[in-house]
Amino acid sequence: MTLDSHRRRRRRRTRALLCAIAALPATHPNACDLHQPRFSPEHATPETARTDRTRIPRDIRIEQGGFATADAAAACFGARYHDDKRAEFVTFLVHTEDGWAYLTPGKGPRNARRVHTEALHRASNDAGHALLAVAHTHPFGMPYFSATDAATVLRANGPMYLTNWRNETWRLAPEDVRSQLERRGFPSTTISVSRLFSAPGMREGWRGTPVAPVVNPVRRADR
Ligand SMILES: [Zn+2]
Repeated sequence: MTLDSHRRRRRRRTRALLCAIAALPATHPNACDLHQPRFSPEHATPETARTDRTRIPRDIRIEQGGFATADAAAACFGARYHDDKRAEFVTFLVHTEDGWAYLTPGKGPRNARRVHTEALHRASNDAGHALLAVAHTHPFGMPYFSATDAATVLRANGPMYLTNWRNETWRLAPEDVRSQLERRGFPSTTISVSRLFSAPGMREGWRGTPVAPVVNPVRRADR
């Protein structure tokens, strides 16, 4: 082997190694990083950085993505934010060429049972994202979907995810609400939803469909 061909081979090997590194995904695919810094009110817009407001992030971007399913993205958001005992977090799910993702969440007012999310929805839209589903936490109160949640699903005609303080994640789809109303002979209106919720057995809310918990969390040592 001449010195020249040896050098060429070495260069080829280096190039192959560089390509292998470039092909490695920047994040762990379909994995949920539980230790990445979370949204906190100091990242909120000045007008909303108060405990009696729905805190809206100044910068709404993909917080974690690369998930194979919307369920996995929602379960990751829930696992990361369900443990705040005083306020609810709300986010939106999006789909990119890397898969499903959730956006920087907003945070509801302290101890509020109803959280106004219109401004957060608008801000998330204005940040250039196509919002496909909403996900939120229940830090207290009902462990499952409330009448307000079900009415929102019906009105928005899109799925909603909920993660309660036990870190259980549930999904409610518009067709679930409509079929339940049909079964009772109610029209598909938000008034019918409140009638549905006044039935016995609905005190804890509506369970919807269970979503598998995070199965592949990224731990500190993996990062
Ligand atoms: Zn809710």
